[in-house]
Amino acid sequence: MLNIILFGPPGSGKGTQALKLKLKYALIHISTGDIFRAEISSQSSLGQELKSYMDHGQLVPDELTFRVLKSYFGENELQKSQGIIFDGFPRTLPQAEALDTFLSERNEPIQVVLSLLVNEDEVVSRIMLRGQTSGRSDDNDETIVRKRMQVYREQTFPLAAYYTSQKKYVELNGEGSIEEVFTALSNHIDRTLALTESADMV
Ligand code: ADP
Repeated sequence: MLNIILFGPPGSGKGTQALKLKLKYALIHISTGDIFRAEISSQSSLGQELKSYMDHGQLVPDELTFRVLKSYFGENELQKSQGIIFDGFPRTLPQAEALDTFLSERNEPIQVVLSLLVNEDEVVSRIMLRGQTSGRSDDNDETIVRKRMQVYREQTFPLAAYYTSQKKYVELNGEGSIEEVFTALSNHIDRTLALTESADMV
């Protein structure tokens, strides 16, 4: 098994890289943002509630995030993959702790947290550019985008210390081309796999 978290601010390229890594390593891609947007498209009342947070650049509260994820896990088979790539989750300390509990019960812990470093002005301009075609209402308004960055700094970035204390946190330059970042991520994953295999042989 290969369980990875892709970490980094909004617009740092997590979604783009996760799709490429999913194909290369036969992983299941779990993006809470995508799961939430699918719920919104279904026009459920739950979706309306999710949208009210997302449109304001706020995090969806943990309790609601867990509720949506539980039903997602209930409906989707995780057994057949080589592992999971998490994108946009966890975003708070309680989410990280809940994920650790869930995965350790299955004896399949997170092996590595790959963090993409991109400076704030660069991510804001990337998101605004994406907003021209993504149809995402949270990508069009610079005030909302800056708010998301603030939420990231205050609520999500502290997870770097959490995973550093578990010796799982690795930072990479996220400002190169898509292929350069992909190569750097793949090299780290290959190293992680080699370490896991040699540990398994002992
Ligand atoms: P981005 O990385 O560009 O912010 P995402 O699709 O990951 O895009 O997230 C979009 C929005 O969905 C976030 O701004 C937040 O409101 C909500 N969201 C996504 N994942 C989570 C999560 N794990 N916890 C709380 N809110 C989340």
